[in-house]
Amino acid sequence: MSVLVEIEKLFENHGGELYFGELVTQAEHALQAALEAETEGSTSALITSALLHDVGHLLQGLPEDIAQQGVDAHHEVIGSKWLGKYFGADVCEPMCLHVDAKRYLCTVEPEYLATLSDASVLSLKLQGGPFNPEQVAKFESNPHFKEAVRLRRWDDRAKIVGLETPDVAHFRPYIEASLKMNSPQ
Ligand code: FE
Repeated sequence: MSVLVEIEKLFENHGGELYFGELVTQAEHALQAALEAETEGSTSALITSALLHDVGHLLQGLPEDIAQQGVDAHHEVIGSKWLGKYFGADVCEPMCLHVDAKRYLCTVEPEYLATLSDASVLSLKLQGGPFNPEQVAKFESNPHFKEAVRLRRWDDRAKIVGLETPDVAHFRPYIEASLKMNSPQ
C-alpha cells in the first residue's frame, strides 16, 4: 500500500473521531491546520507536517477522553516514528516538536497560556508543563524550532467548528513532493 493510500485510509477510518476534548473531528482539525499552513505559503514539507501532526492519534485510535484519564499518549513520538519511514527531517521534526513548542511558548510568551483551550491546558500538565530556562535554550538550539512554533500556532487555531476546508486529496501534491524518495536529503 502506498503511503498516500495509507494516509487516506487512516483519515477514512479514524478521521471522524473527535479531536481530544474539542468540538471538531480529527480530520477537521488536521485539514484546518494544513489549510493554515497552505494559506501562509509554507513549504510542501511544512504543509505535510501540519496535515499529519496528529497522525499518532490516528495510528493509536485511543479514546478521545484519554487526557481526562490522566494519560499522555506521546502521540508525537509515535507519529514521528511512522512519518520517518516516508519523510525527512523537514516533515518529521516540526511535527515531533509540536508538543514541546507549546511548553516553549508558555514560557516565552506569558499571554500564550490564556489562549489555549481547556483540553490543551489539561494535556500541558501531562506533558510536563512550561519549559524551564534550560529547556528553552535547548529547544531554540534545534534547527527546526521555528517551524515547530509555526505549526503549533496552526494547531492551536485549527479547532473551528464548521469551517470549510479542502479534503485530504487536495493536499496530495504536497505530500508527494515531501516524500523522501522525491526529495532526497
Ligand atoms: Fe493537534
